[in-house]
Amino acid sequence: MSEEKNTTPSNFLRQIIERDLAQGTYASRRWSHAPGDAAQQVAGEPDPAKIRTRFPPEPNGYLHVGHAKSICLNFGLARDYGGVCHMRFDDTNPEKEEQEYVDSITDSVQWLGFSWQAFGDTHLYFASNYFDFMYRAAEALIEAGHAYVDQQTAEEMRVNRGTLTEKGIDSPWRNRPVAENLALFREMRDGKHADGSMVLRAKIDMASPNINLRDPAIYRIKRATHHNTGDKWCIYPMYTFAHPIEDALENITHSICTLEFEDQRPFYDWVLERLADAGLLARPLPKQYEFARLNLTYVITSKRKLMQLVNEGHVEGWDDPRMPTIVGLRRRGYTPEAIQLFAERIGVSKADSWIDYSTLEGALRDDLDSKAARAMAVLDPVKLKLTNWDALFGAGHAEPCSAPVHPHHEDMGRRQFNLTGEIVIEREDFMEEPPKGYHRLYPGNMARLKYGYVIQCTGCEKDAAGNITAVLAEIVPDTKSGTPGADSVKVKGVITWVSASEGVPAEIRLYDRLFTEAHPDAGGRNFLDCLNPDSKRVISAWVEPGLASAAPDSKFQFERHGYFVADRKDMQPGKPVFNRTTTLRDTWQK
Ligand code: ATP
Ligand code: MG
Repeated sequence: MSEEKNTTPSNFLRQIIERDLAQGTYASRRWSHAPGDAAQQVAGEPDPAKIRTRFPPEPNGYLHVGHAKSICLNFGLARDYGGVCHMRFDDTNPEKEEQEYVDSITDSVQWLGFSWQAFGDTHLYFASNYFDFMYRAAEALIEAGHAYVDQQTAEEMRVNRGTLTEKGIDSPWRNRPVAENLALFREMRDGKHADGSMVLRAKIDMASPNINLRDPAIYRIKRATHHNTGDKWCIYPMYTFAHPIEDALENITHSICTLEFEDQRPFYDWVLERLADAGLLARPLPKQYEFARLNLTYVITSKRKLMQLVNEGHVEGWDDPRMPTIVGLRRRGYTPEAIQLFAERIGVSKADSWIDYSTLEGALRDDLDSKAARAMAVLDPVKLKLTNWDALFGAGHAEPCSAPVHPHHEDMGRRQFNLTGEIVIEREDFMEEPPKGYHRLYPGNMARLKYGYVIQCTGCEKDAAGNITAVLAEIVPDTKSGTPGADSVKVKGVITWVSASEGVPAEIRLYDRLFTEAHPDAGGRNFLDCLNPDSKRVISAWVEPGLASAAPDSKFQFERHGYFVADRKDMQPGKPVFNRTTTLRDTWQK
């Protein structure tokens, strides 16, 4: 455990950037206000962005909480150091991309609070717009003797690549003359050869201890219609070749990726050095840095598995509030600030580790506590009849009560609701035969109706089967909260309630973790085997009248119960629907 790596996790990238800024590593860069080759950038003005980072998702799925870490990191560093983070769609793979994903990804990044608008430019880019340059780069490598067309079968290539302990074997096509390579590569481009019949490979070192340097493929033949370039190309660059080029064309300074790309870094540098030598790319070149991806307990972040949850109907879509997708977290009631806070707290490190799910919920509670309006809701209602109401106040009387919207923010105002002769309370707030230490309602005992009067319980009504159908109590006169007599009677229990005649029925979705195991896919287990059968429970509850038309997405703390959000899709005026965002405390702790 090196201290440097683990105790100051948020610093290693910052230190690198601060050092580069101090040394002026990137001070000489020029920028033409668009991605481009060396000639184009050199003719531009001095780059106004001190650093350039990028967030480069493949538009083949919805973003999840792991991407959120990368977004907060890349956009956060750019913001903190006078730079800009590019929003780049890595759409070089023709087969998987869809507009639906592009839209949802841009939405999610903006919702998280970030922008790619800076220094007068909109830094929203599509890697497929660089195909022409990538092709030119490949020809330049061929001309300089750094690439060759290989006609081995995929299987031969695999076998000849060698292993960790055995060197690879040179391809019989490795020493083809440049002119022949060039001609064949052009034929590949022109559709003269079948898919998979040949590839263009970088000519590096088949004996390298780093297998990624054993002549990696850089272009393949693939007849597929691309969403941006249509049928213009039947050859496509490999990701490891395309990515460094995308970074360089965009003037990226710090290219931050996850740890599994560490072994690719030498190839990243190899590609850029060769193309800069050929005069195609401007120096100084971007540099790649790796950080540990986010692993969160109780959560799956594999795109394939998330897709399976959606497609097989284990959840109700990508934005199901149980999904770790950004759209799911949003619908669950997460705020952008909570996710940013989470990203800050976990920091970045060079070592893979697991973050406990409670860290995410903790950041959420810390953010919502100061923001969420308070409200009373009764989730498991039983009726309570105030039997001396009519005698005291007259039949049908409604007694105005008021409470702060937030106990610590008077500026958020007050909320008004009426106490009436019949209310609903939580079923657990009445017991016929209470255990020791129970301070709520039982025959003879007094408790306070929050923001209202002290009441004394007199008994209950039951149906033929013995179920309690109503609790009976009497108002203790002159004890209303906020009046001089409020403290004249001391009680130990305080009860939340909603007026039965003025409160509003609401659908409430009680969400919980989607999996019962901290590591749902550990040890080869099928993650579907530990789906939590109680991850969603729908109940009918009662809420304060003011919540009947809560704005979709508005957040509340239901006193005693936790944080809830008005569902952004299903909320309708007069027919409220709330999602439980999280309980007030972590109930999963051992
Ligand atoms: P795929 O398996 O399809 O490649 P991916 O999760 O790597 O999926 P990308 O769209 O390639 O998805 O990811 C975009 C960016 O998000 C990458 O730069 C990647 O490093 C980062 N990213 C993805 N997952 C995580 C994670 N769990 N933690 C941190 N960063 C992540
Ligand atoms: Mg990826």
